[in-house]
Amino acid sequence: MRKQIVAGNWKMNKTESESIRLIDEIKAQKLNENVNVFIAPTFVNLASAVKSTKDSGIQVAAQNMHQSSSGAYTGEISAGMLLDIGVNHVILGHSERRAYFGETDQLLNEKVQAASDAGLQIIFCFGEELDDRKSGAHFNIVKQQLSTALFDLDKSQWSQIVLAYEPVWAIGTGETASPAQAQEMHAFIRTLIEDHYDSACADGVSILYGGSVKPANADEIFAQTDVDGGLIGGASLQAADFAAIVNGFE
Ligand code: PEP
Repeated sequence: MRKQIVAGNWKMNKTESESIRLIDEIKAQKLNENVNVFIAPTFVNLASAVKSTKDSGIQVAAQNMHQSSSGAYTGEISAGMLLDIGVNHVILGHSERRAYFGETDQLLNEKVQAASDAGLQIIFCFGEELDDRKSGAHFNIVKQQLSTALFDLDKSQWSQIVLAYEPVWAIGTGETASPAQAQEMHAFIRTLIEDHYDSACADGVSILYGGSVKPANADEIFAQTDVDGGLIGGASLQAADFAAIVNGFE
């Protein structure tokens, strides 16, 4: 059975004290115990988040990392540094990293390999822009993104991968892909993996949906056969909303 996952991407929000307060508020909520819950605070708040979530079942992820293990890369953070402070998960390929920091699928392939080699679990984000969706190119775009960034991975490395399909037009816009649109794309993604690897690999990988998931729409989206959870931006900054989304699973 695939893991059900809800991950909150806090982006560049929350000071350290605010971050700890939000963690305390989330811990005070009743959360569906079958769901793997992640939060991704900003780099400077990761260490305190690891401490604050200890023994809570909530896991901490970084929002990015550099592909090299060390060296002259001012401002960057390595996989080893994350692991050293107890962070075992990293989000890679978020559309904001792609749009504002020029991350390409070639670069992301290097980051994924580096994260995997170091032993991190990876939440890999991808998804089409609005123009791609309008022109009907969305399936090809997603295929290209996955092929370039992930399809040279060894089958064994897929146990470290969680996918997050995030149509860019739905991120932070209030516009959500319909449950049917999400299911259609998730099923397509699973078929791609089956064609490139095998059905065990395709059936085993959790595929999250991201893009304006809220308490009001989470249950309908999570009810889709190939949707295994969500990557949540805005709504993850409110403990009650985040908990309601986690509890959107039956
Ligand atoms: C995101 O940034 O990954 C995201 C899904 O944001 P939002 O939920 O705010 O659309």
